[in-house]
Amino acid sequence: MNVQSQVRKASPGTTEHFDVLIAGAGISGVGAAYHLTTQCPGTTFVALETQKTFGGTWSTHRYPGIRSDSDLHTFGYRFKPWTSAPIASAAEILKYMGEVIAENDLARHIRYQHTITSAKWSSEENLWTIEATRNDTGEQVRFTTNFFWMCQGYYRHAEGYTPEWKDMAKFKGPIVHPQKWPEDLDYKNKRVVVIGSGATAATLIPALAGDVAHVTMLQRSPTYFRTGRNAIEIAEQLRQLQVDEKWIHEITRRKILFDQDAFTRKTFEEPEAAKKDLLSAVEAYLGKDYDIATHFTPKYRPWRQRIAFIPDGDLFQGIKSGKASVVTDEIDRFNEKGILLKSGKELEADIIVTATGFHLSANGDIEFAVDGKKLDFADTVTYRGMMFTGVPNLVWVFGYFRASWTLRVDLVADFVCRMLNHMKQTGVKKVTPQLRPEDHNMPLLPWIDPENFNPGYMMRGMHLLPKRGDKPEWQHNQDYWAEKDEFPSIDLKDRAFAYE
Ligand SMILES: Cc1cc2nc3c(=O)[nH]c(=O)nc-3n(C[C@H](O)[C@H](O)[C@H](O)COP(=O)(O)OP(=O)(O)OC[C@H]3O[C@@H](n4cnc5c(N)ncnc54)[C@H](O)[C@@H]3O)c2cc1C
Repeated sequence: MNVQSQVRKASPGTTEHFDVLIAGAGISGVGAAYHLTTQCPGTTFVALETQKTFGGTWSTHRYPGIRSDSDLHTFGYRFKPWTSAPIASAAEILKYMGEVIAENDLARHIRYQHTITSAKWSSEENLWTIEATRNDTGEQVRFTTNFFWMCQGYYRHAEGYTPEWKDMAKFKGPIVHPQKWPEDLDYKNKRVVVIGSGATAATLIPALAGDVAHVTMLQRSPTYFRTGRNAIEIAEQLRQLQVDEKWIHEITRRKILFDQDAFTRKTFEEPEAAKKDLLSAVEAYLGKDYDIATHFTPKYRPWRQRIAFIPDGDLFQGIKSGKASVVTDEIDRFNEKGILLKSGKELEADIIVTATGFHLSANGDIEFAVDGKKLDFADTVTYRGMMFTGVPNLVWVFGYFRASWTLRVDLVADFVCRMLNHMKQTGVKKVTPQLRPEDHNMPLLPWIDPENFNPGYMMRGMHLLPKRGDKPEWQHNQDYWAEKDEFPSIDLKDRAFAYE
């Protein structure tokens, strides 16, 4: 079955109606589509996607070596077994998503090259009116929907974040952001400097190391990494025993989540011990003489920023081989030949890659209004990081950072489907999260506590995000292990939901 739906024509001037409209066809949007077909049969829905194909992150990022930094048993959906090595390339993830679309006949629900530009709620009609632009023809098309399921991710796909450094224009070679990797970029036998040391840099550097003259990872401050074999022992053993893949998937997920829970707890309860575990694994690759204290020992407690998994220690192997190196310093300015550092050193380069992160986008760059009033999500309080006070019939999927994003795609979908079925059964048309009387004196805080999790793009964009309260109902606490039990028991009759 073809997984690419045709870009269907909605005639200009007409309005199509769907019970549910999904924004985006990444891992969240495709997951939402699957759950709607299985948990809310008979519900009409459409997913509108800007790109020419599905996959979101995994189709828009094209830099060499692009791969997951968490395992695919948990980054994969709970309903479709992952049967290969846990850390997967973008191509493997896209193949898996393509199978989900084909096996569940979802292609007919997805319309590509449709960019949603505005979403306006009317309480008179109990409907969202969604305007979209067709990227292929430039036409404006209009939809109405009862429920808007936002699966547009959390960052702007069109361009990444590059800080402004002094004299960047003087550099003679290309300056490339990994989000816009030029297909024809020739890096063979070139000297490459990658600025940044997050998951992207850690993926890119081993992928480049074999081809370039040298690749330098230039970081202002170090990052934690986890490393080990790209295999899950229990999955291998069960496979040897010819256990059914469905069982292997479920058991392996449980084992991974059990171990991750223990590790996450350790980072809060015994941060020094957790830090020691992480650093010893790096030392095992780089040896005792390598300056791990300068280059791989962050100042913060482990898990305050995402910890990327380095399969088979390939980043460290690149460093050990001498093809890659790490410089921990600050950029003073660029010049024609490369980068001048605050220490006075100069880093010469033919190509500079800025693996410096994202632009956070809370709303998919969609203009929102509720009953004629422009909506600013920063003025709302989030209900469990998925709904927002005063915003009817809308859910946003924002996954986990310390566990795989997709675990929350499945959990949120169960909640939405339960809510939609409840609304159908009780005949209500509108649900709006609202603070309950007992919540009115609750302190309103930024979306996430920087003490808990503080990557740069979050800190730069926090003012755009909804507020959080100090109770589990009013925050996205990034705790899969609590939410997996809390979500199924959310009381739909709670006063946090105003129905009409
Ligand atoms: C390089 C990289 C590696 C990552 N690796 C991992 C990992 O290993 N594990 C993990 O848990 N997380 C990882 N993440 C985080 C990752 O983004 C999420 O896990 C996940 O892929 C997000 O899926 P999503 O569908 O919610 O959003 P996205 O993948 O961002 O997809 C959203 C889709 O919505 C579309 N869209 C946006 N706005 C509009 C609009 N206005 N109209 C129509 N369509 C729109 C976009 O075009 C896009 O296709 C990684 C992120 C990056 C950038």
